[in-house]
Amino acid sequence: MTWEERWHPLRGEWVVVAAHRQNRPWSGEMVGRSLKEIPRFVGDCYLCPGNLRVSGATNPAYDNIFVFDNDHPSISTGAPQPDVPRSAFHKTMRADGISRVVCYSPRHDLTLAELSQVEIVRLFECWQQQYAELGSMPNVDHVLIFENKGEAVGVSNPHPHCQIYANNFVFKTIANEVQAGREYFAQNGRVLFQDVIAAEIEDGRRIIAENDKAIAFLPYFARYAYEVFVAPKATHPSIANLSGNELKDLAEVLKTVLVKFDNLWQMPFPYVMPLHQAPTDGGDHSTFHFHIEFHPPLRKPDLLKYLAGPEIGGGNFLSDTSPEEKAAELIAASSVHYKTEVSE
Ligand SMILES: [Zn+2]
Ligand SMILES: [Zn+2]
Repeated sequence: MTWEERWHPLRGEWVVVAAHRQNRPWSGEMVGRSLKEIPRFVGDCYLCPGNLRVSGATNPAYDNIFVFDNDHPSISTGAPQPDVPRSAFHKTMRADGISRVVCYSPRHDLTLAELSQVEIVRLFECWQQQYAELGSMPNVDHVLIFENKGEAVGVSNPHPHCQIYANNFVFKTIANEVQAGREYFAQNGRVLFQDVIAAEIEDGRRIIAENDKAIAFLPYFARYAYEVFVAPKATHPSIANLSGNELKDLAEVLKTVLVKFDNLWQMPFPYVMPLHQAPTDGGDHSTFHFHIEFHPPLRKPDLLKYLAGPEIGGGNFLSDTSPEEKAAELIAASSVHYKTEVSE
C-alpha cells in the first residue's frame, strides 16, 4: 500500500500516489472491451491500400509504410491569417505547420505490437526521415510524432497508424522537459534522463525490458497506472540520431512492452504514445534525451483513469495505483503475443 508524493523530475511537479484507495467502491461507467474479429482489409477504411479518402485522393496499393498529409489538418501551411484580436492584450498567430498520417502496415487488423522487429525498425527509419525533413523547415519549431490507440482514447479506426504534427511552437510537455533538463545539467553537469535511467536500474523493480542499447521501465514517478518509458541508453536529441544497432535494440524493447500490454488483459491495449524529441527551433538540445512515453488511460480492463479536480483543476496527477505493483504485473506478463499463442 503506497501512500506518498513522488517528484516528477522531467515535469518538475509532484505526483500524489494514493494506492490505498484503489479498491474503493466504484459505480461509474465501465468501458467494456471489444473482442470482435477485425478483417485484414476494409472497403471503406480511409487508411487501407487502394481506398478513396474524403479528400478525393486514392491511397496507393502500398505494401509496407504509407505517409500522407492529413485530410483534416489542425495545422497547415494553408491555414488562414488569424483575425486581429479586438483587444491588444490578446495574442494570436497563424495555425501554420504540417500534419501527416503514417500507416504502419497495409494490414487493417494488425497493431504495432504485432509487427515484427524488422517492420518496427522500418517504421523507426520512416520517423527518422520525417523528423529530419519536417524539422529542417524554417517555420517548424517542433515535430511531435504520436499514436492514439483504441476507443478509450477516441480512436474508432483500428488500422495501425500514427500522426505527425510539425508546429510553429514547442508543445508544453517538451518545453518543460527542455527547461528541466537544462537546469539539471547546469546544476549537476549530468543529463537528467541519464540519471532517471540510472535510478531505475539502481532500484530495479520497475524495469520491463532491457537489452544492450535500450531500456523500458515504468517510472518511479508514473502518473498513469501503466505508464512506460522506452528509450535508447545513450543520449540522442531525436530518433534521427540513432544508429542501426540502436534502432534494432529499441525495436526489440518496444515490441516486448507492447506485447506485454496486450497480454495483460488479452486485448489490444489502448494508449497515447508520444515520441519526446528535442525541438527543432535552432536551440542547443545536445543534452535532450529522446524517449518514447506510453500513457495508457485504463486502470483495469473496464476502468478508465478519469482526469478530474487534481489533474484538470490543479494540474498535478493523483495516481490510485502503486508503480511497483503495476510494473510487477507487466514483468509477469508473457512476452509472446496472445494471438500468436492461439493461432500457432
Ligand atoms: Zn484499414
Ligand atoms: Zn518525456
